[in-house]
Amino acid sequence: MTEKKGRVFSGARPTGRQHLGNYLGAIKNYVALQDDYECIYCIVDLHALTTLETTENLRQNSYEMALDFLAAGIRPEETIIFIQSHVPEVTELHTILSMVTPLGKLTDLPTFKEKARQQPHNVNYGLVGYPVLMTADITLYKANIVPVGIDQAPHLEFAREVVRSFNYRYQTNVLIEPEMKSTELPKVIGIDGVQKMSKSLNNHIELAATPEETTQRVMQMVTDPQRQRRSDPGRPEVCNVFTFHKVFSPADMVAEIDVECRRAGIGCVECKQRMAANLNQHLEPFRQKRAEYARDPNYVWDVLRDGKERASKIAKQTMIEVRQAVGLP
Ligand code: SF4
Repeated sequence: MTEKKGRVFSGARPTGRQHLGNYLGAIKNYVALQDDYECIYCIVDLHALTTLETTENLRQNSYEMALDFLAAGIRPEETIIFIQSHVPEVTELHTILSMVTPLGKLTDLPTFKEKARQQPHNVNYGLVGYPVLMTADITLYKANIVPVGIDQAPHLEFAREVVRSFNYRYQTNVLIEPEMKSTELPKVIGIDGVQKMSKSLNNHIELAATPEETTQRVMQMVTDPQRQRRSDPGRPEVCNVFTFHKVFSPADMVAEIDVECRRAGIGCVECKQRMAANLNQHLEPFRQKRAEYARDPNYVWDVLRDGKERASKIAKQTMIEVRQAVGLP
């Protein structure tokens, strides 16, 4: 086995069945990172509690998400995949780290302000402490690399500050200051052609959808708004269907559509049909694997249980070192 470059940690909220936006924006990268890094992927159900109105789907959503991760190519024999709350040491480390975290810094973070605006009826403590719990997630497993998109960069910088404060306060080097692995993650626009793909906006295409459902969603995609009639020339650079073509279609087809759209040589219906066919072809291996795993639901729970055991081992050792450093009896 080739030597790994470091340990990656990343957490994702249990949002159930994943969509193309999740795949292109995160899962694809998760799969690729496994080649070079020792990876730990965590389904962060405790984080989800900060914003969830109801928790009745939490278990099922965690299962569906893990199933999608596995079908997409996460290799559980080398990568640890587990559910955050199954390793309770994270809450203890969260408490300890909260003692070296200035409250003012937390309430100043733009993401806290945004969440507080989004749910003014529920500005709970968990929302404020979210970045501290995130720091506990990363440091508990001694991860030195965290893949982040631009929007999460301030959170990781914050985590690094908390680690420095902890290590300085207790004159230790128990906690590792994680490095940011800046990742150019594409912002995937939904079928409405305007907003980021999201389940809550119902502008998504599920990875696990059937070929027929996928084609149906593609046919609903909003195209260049200036192209009202078949005879109008289009502008591929503003059309979301074309963006998808660039990801899922062969280069010669992309080049052809780029030309034909501009001179109205191809209509949007045909263009979408061709993209849907390529997308379905791309998703076929995923669907087959998913169906295979879904036939044995115990398999997914076994993977998560095994991940929990392996994560627990690291967590317990870290907490021995942390308690010693802090001076807790
Ligand atoms: S032909 Fe294709 S690229 Fe051009 S506007 Fe229609 S859907 Fe978009």
